[in-house]
Amino acid sequence: SEYADISLKDIDQVSKSSFPLCMRHLFEKGVGLKLDDALAFWREEFTKKVGSERFDKEYAYAIRHNYGKEGKRTDYTPYACSKIITSAPGAGDHHGCPYRHFSEDNLKAALSRMGLSSRGMEDVMDKVRNKHYQLACTLTFEAVYGASCDTGINHPNQYFEESQKILKS
Ligand code: SF4
Repeated sequence: SEYADISLKDIDQVSKSSFPLCMRHLFEKGVGLKLDDALAFWREEFTKKVGSERFDKEYAYAIRHNYGKEGKRTDYTPYACSKIITSAPGAGDHHGCPYRHFSEDNLKAALSRMGLSSRGMEDVMDKVRNKHYQLACTLTFEAVYGASCDTGINHPNQYFEESQKILKS
């Protein structure tokens, strides 16, 4: 299957090569957030291939174990960008869109860590100043992967899936 060669121990590496800025940010934060969001994210991805029952049996435990914590979490609802952008970080079950919720300095630093050139960064910041946050994310995607994303970014998982297609082609 498409994701069969992503093993659980590769999650950290994949987070660096293939995650949108919002998910990347979560992975740099505390263990509790990392665990919950890793579960939410990987459940969404893996259940397309292995089914939710098998995910809960085989993968969820392994992810929790990997993060050194066991506990039951039942709400794995992933949010679309539009919802993440329009609600306050921490309200409900997400931690914000960096394009919308980071200060300009923090956002620039994060974009620089993703390898954007100063020209690419200016294009992204221009979209941010005009409050076109999803377009800013789309431009980031295009700069990082050197490929166009005609549909635009509308969901963190979609960003991941599109990037995986490019990285594996
Ligand atoms: Fe995440 Fe969507 Fe914001 Fe991109 S636009 S950082 S995918 S919430």
